[in-house]
Amino acid sequence: MRKALILAVAVMIAACTTTKNDVPMTTTTTTETTPAAPAPVATAASTPLAGNPLLEQWTGPYGGVPPFDRVKVEHFKPALEAAMAENLAEVDRIANDPAPPTFENTIAALEKSGRTLDRVGSIFGVWSSTMSTDDFQPVELEMAPKLAEFSDKITQNEPLFKRIEAVYNAPDVGKLTSEQQRVAWLYYTNFVRSGARLDAAAKARVATVNQQLAELYTKFAQNVLADEKDRYVVLEREADLAGLPDSIRAGAKAAAESKNLAGKWVISNTRSAIEPFLTYSGRRDLREKVWRMFINRGDNGDAHDNNAIITDILRLRAERAKLLGYQTHAHWRLENTMAKSPERALELMEEVWKPAVARVHEEVRDMQAVADKEGAKITIEPWDYRYYAEKVRKAKYDLDQNEVKQYLQLDKLREGIFWVAGELFNFKFTPVSNVPVYHPDVRVWEVTDRTSGKHIGLWFFDPYARPGKQSGAWMNAYRNQQRFDTDVTTIVSNNANFVKGAPGEPLLISWDDASTMFHEFGHALHGLSSNVNYPSVSGTAVFRDYVEFPSQLLEHWLSTPQVLQRFAVNTKGEPIPQKLVDRIERAETFNEGFRTVEYLSSAIVDMRLHLAGDQKIDPDAFEKQALAELGMPKEIVMRHRTPQFLHVFAGDGYSAGYYSYLWSDVLTADAAEAFEEAPGGFYDKDVAGRLRQYVFSVGNTVDPAQGYREFRGRDPKIDALMRKRGFPAPARERAAKQ
Ligand SMILES: [Zn+2]
Repeated sequence: MRKALILAVAVMIAACTTTKNDVPMTTTTTTETTPAAPAPVATAASTPLAGNPLLEQWTGPYGGVPPFDRVKVEHFKPALEAAMAENLAEVDRIANDPAPPTFENTIAALEKSGRTLDRVGSIFGVWSSTMSTDDFQPVELEMAPKLAEFSDKITQNEPLFKRIEAVYNAPDVGKLTSEQQRVAWLYYTNFVRSGARLDAAAKARVATVNQQLAELYTKFAQNVLADEKDRYVVLEREADLAGLPDSIRAGAKAAAESKNLAGKWVISNTRSAIEPFLTYSGRRDLREKVWRMFINRGDNGDAHDNNAIITDILRLRAERAKLLGYQTHAHWRLENTMAKSPERALELMEEVWKPAVARVHEEVRDMQAVADKEGAKITIEPWDYRYYAEKVRKAKYDLDQNEVKQYLQLDKLREGIFWVAGELFNFKFTPVSNVPVYHPDVRVWEVTDRTSGKHIGLWFFDPYARPGKQSGAWMNAYRNQQRFDTDVTTIVSNNANFVKGAPGEPLLISWDDASTMFHEFGHALHGLSSNVNYPSVSGTAVFRDYVEFPSQLLEHWLSTPQVLQRFAVNTKGEPIPQKLVDRIERAETFNEGFRTVEYLSSAIVDMRLHLAGDQKIDPDAFEKQALAELGMPKEIVMRHRTPQFLHVFAGDGYSAGYYSYLWSDVLTADAAEAFEEAPGGFYDKDVAGRLRQYVFSVGNTVDPAQGYREFRGRDPKIDALMRKRGFPAPARERAAKQ
């Protein structure tokens, strides 16, 4: 059920995310037993359920696989309704069990329930994030509030909460395993946090608010999707292509052809098309045009404008937080995180903000000097940043991204990623063709143990942009590892938005994109390494500000010589020259001011919006004022402006939570140094073993601060992060500890 909930409110997130809900409420399970008596379903009369593939057990190899090839949009509504009804019936049986509450008959029983809904929700989420067609969108919009209502019916079930409370407070709770105690704690806390203790009137209001929010989240995401699909820039003439390398031209040509604009070129309104254009286009007028289109997604004053939706979301979130007994939405969200409070998260962000802004001013000076030398007679504007940064990179470090790109073939890097997983975790990836997919571009690999051959899970890879697919890159788990009743292996996926090149030619990607691939694969490895009993604490179901740690850590393996020499090869099979690698290393912290400020401004605005409390907020005005107060450099715009901030407004997941990437990066940088200090470097077996044992395999069975401490032998320190980003060390050492 957990997954169904989050997926219902749209999950994908630009530049990465996992799609896990961090609010495990009831459960997930896959296997066997359909409930003895299928629950009566109100709507079933008009919609026959027989033959609905979504409601069937997953059959086929690997413990069953999703029936992607048989799913039709019309299956979703009846399947979701039937699965919710079934789950509610299960929950009622648990709540009304005449036997005294025990872990087994209450918590474990909840973990076993909702398996049909979990399967349906999982596939529903795939459609929502990657196949959001015109016929799917109304279904999603209709089901989102119903799923929210369903979820509240469970957390507001009083007899059920009494049983959970009794198990959690039982005098002999210490006799449970530590994992069981943590699962019991999670249930208890999440029920309380969802309002289980409120009076009837407050509960009813929370439920109404949740339904309204679910609908607003869906509309928000669909609006961004519409602007990304319907708005694009057409390049009419050869002269419009000035400066663009061949690979970008080919992508733009293919995009034009797909829109029946043969003979022209199209720059799509998606990050993977926009950023390369801004980096290389010599046409300043077109750079500005493309930039404006991109940063105004959801902010065009038309039918897809998100401003009013944001105002409503913020108001409802503030009201819900108050009802639940919290000062603000941010305080509610951060309670169950490593940071614990918005103040601590802000403190970390502010510590990094100042040196980052100082670096931006240096970067702008360097760029202005290049522009002046060229006689460009311009002042650097936001649409010039990437373009002139690239020129500075060339001048300062003799490093041309395009020179690097020829060695970054998507397929080869994927092999490199597999190889790293083999070295670190002894995983082996084998392509399989006996598993249904939902789109011909999707490919599947079986993951096994390299030594024993034991099946570990499946990895789906959906690499290309297409209409109806959310932009950015993300990981998703279709099924969680668990073994408390039967052994269930995981199915995970990585999703990206690479612009398809010419057919038959290897797809070349940028260094940043390669890094993102390693990042998302880190989430996938986190899911695949899971070795726990209960689904609620499986894989990536960890605190939001901890979940980016495994993924960000994996990014470090891209630049290891072992990967570069073997997998960064051009189409002739020649590896990237060492001289070029040296130059990449020297330029490692180049443009870090831009990267950090672009990200941090979004994270700080997110936090401030959710600390603002119960007032009517005009998003554009609030954003402007917050940035002015921060001293935002005028040459940079937020990575995600408020009207397109999917992380924050397409669901609760990353709301007041975009800081998580920075928080996790404190751990990441510190953990990377553990490898650097080890005799075997990034391939040190000892450190890799500890990483798997205490971080990747434990899910949410242990407190992350404790897990980290066991891996590292101490709490994390912020110095490593500052070193990694090339900023001066902080005045005082501050541990980002629990
Ligand atoms: Zn991530």
